[in-house]
Amino acid sequence: VLSSRLMQVGKQVPLGARLADIGSDHAYLPTYLVLKQQIPFAVAGEVVRGPYESAKKQVAKNGLENQIIVRLADGLAAIHAEDQIDAISIAGMGGALIRNILENGKQQGQLTGNETLILQPNVGEATLRNWLIRNDYEIRHEEILEENQKIYEIIVAIPSDRNLSYSKKELFFGPILLKERSLIFLQKWQKELTNKQRVLKELTKAQELPLEKIAEVKEQLQWIEEVLA
Ligand code: SAM
Repeated sequence: VLSSRLMQVGKQVPLGARLADIGSDHAYLPTYLVLKQQIPFAVAGEVVRGPYESAKKQVAKNGLENQIIVRLADGLAAIHAEDQIDAISIAGMGGALIRNILENGKQQGQLTGNETLILQPNVGEATLRNWLIRNDYEIRHEEILEENQKIYEIIVAIPSDRNLSYSKKELFFGPILLKERSLIFLQKWQKELTNKQRVLKELTKAQELPLEKIAEVKEQLQWIEEVLA
């Protein structure tokens, strides 16, 4: 039932964690993890009523109302202090949206900074990594996978008091993915090379040249060429 993408996300949830799955849609991920006894408890958060109702149904169908609480809430507002959440998963959204959810949660005190974060952005991975590093997280693990001709990345981050420094290039590609240089990773960046070359061409056609943007894309193109070399 579970997509291989969500299965891979689930593998990164620590055994025994009290999980908040934000943007849970049908609550497939927490249902799967509780049924296979990887976790004892989860909150499934949804901001839209339709998916919230689907999550409720899914949990009831499996008789898991005592272990999975479904809440209609925006982002990390689904988490209550008494839940004692120690892991948060946010999957299947853009990286900027995931970042905003984390940032708002931090400002509202729902993100304590002690949670393991399991994140699967569909796009905008670098934006998310930048937020993580600026907020004292360490990138513990990364994965890249292909499903239905789409390539997805998973980022696992843990709070850290080590003074880590990541280069701009590492945050762009993902420090761990960059080291591994897997086949799927190379495929992704081969595609991105073509995309960025097209973007650069478009940018240089503009009446008033967006010089900063051009410089940024050129720098990224150089990194991509280095990685593919
Ligand atoms: N996490 C599931 C997955 O990876 O398959 C569902 C992904 S679905 C594409 C994204 C879900 O996030 C939608 O159901 C949407 O309603 C929900 N969502 C978007 N913004 C949200 C927010 N601020 N708080 C809670 N849920 C949100």
